[in-house]
Amino acid sequence: AKDSGRNATQLFRSTMQEAASIRLQLESELRLALTHGEFELFLQPQIDSASGMIIGAEALLRWRHPERGLRSPADFIEVLEESGLIIDVGDWVIGQACRMAASLLAAGLVRTDRFSLCINISPRQFHQSEFVERILAALEQTGLPAQMIKLEITEGMVIQNLDDTIAKMHRLRRHGVSFAMDDFGTGYSSLTYLKRLPVDLLKIDQSFVRDALDNGNDAEIIRAIVAMARSLGLQVIAEGVEQQGQLELLQLQGCQLYQGYLFSHPLPFTEFGELLRKQPDR
Ligand code: C2E
Ligand code: CA
Ligand code: CA
Ligand code: CA
Repeated sequence: AKDSGRNATQLFRSTMQEAASIRLQLESELRLALTHGEFELFLQPQIDSASGMIIGAEALLRWRHPERGLRSPADFIEVLEESGLIIDVGDWVIGQACRMAASLLAAGLVRTDRFSLCINISPRQFHQSEFVERILAALEQTGLPAQMIKLEITEGMVIQNLDDTIAKMHRLRRHGVSFAMDDFGTGYSSLTYLKRLPVDLLKIDQSFVRDALDNGNDAEIIRAIVAMARSLGLQVIAEGVEQQGQLELLQLQGCQLYQGYLFSHPLPFTEFGELLRKQPDR
């Protein structure tokens, strides 16, 4: 028994060592990916069901690995965050998103007052001291009007440092940048602090949408979020809408904006442009 205990410990140690070296390997691959230009942003349309129009898009990071093909953030975002690489990759994301939006605008495919591009911001990125300056620099370099970007933040990031968060949000807002609260309902959603935060849009987390049809509680949570958004004067969008039945239920709860596979998967930039081109009334 003693022996098998020792073997188990050794096995555990070598498994841990292996995991650590796989992680280090991934980290150095990610570092190279940035310099080799292997990252891409896909765009997922956001739809207003009343008009059927595309009112925005969310920029979603992809890694086109030379051997392993297209990778989603689930495979690497944690390593980006823990290693701090998210700062440089996040800078690239901000710049690339602004270039994409500026190019759609220049092509006449979107209008300043009718479209915004949502950019995911990680906590580490947001809490760096130069964050506001970096956003403003990207806008200036691309000539993009600030109204055309919306920064997606999460509840977790907010409680880390409420005063710093609010101060930064107000500075950016004065320039015209708006904010969305991502994954809403999954974190520490206190009405009191939501009232203090200058957000414009609540994104109902996809876990509620996924289970809404067979779980009465989730349908109730959606109803409560929509009502709360309305009373605070905020827009609300449902994420992860895959089925017609989910759309109908959400519409019954008073939701009007949608994002999900039912409408479109995230698309490469060119395909997203083609989709916009097909819209009847731009
Ligand atoms: P998120 O911000 O909650 O993004 C929504 C995720 O749901 C995306 O996954 C999107 O592809 C997926 N999705 C959209 N519609 C549906 C649907 O109908 N059904 C289902 N099952 N899923 C749907 P993705 O692209 O794999 O991104 C995962 C997460 O990685 C994001 O979750 C976000 O937290 C993070 N992420 C993505 N891009 C960036 C980025 O540029 N910067 C940072 N910091 N994080 C990012
Ligand atoms: Ca998001
Ligand atoms: Ca989300
Ligand atoms: Ca998420």
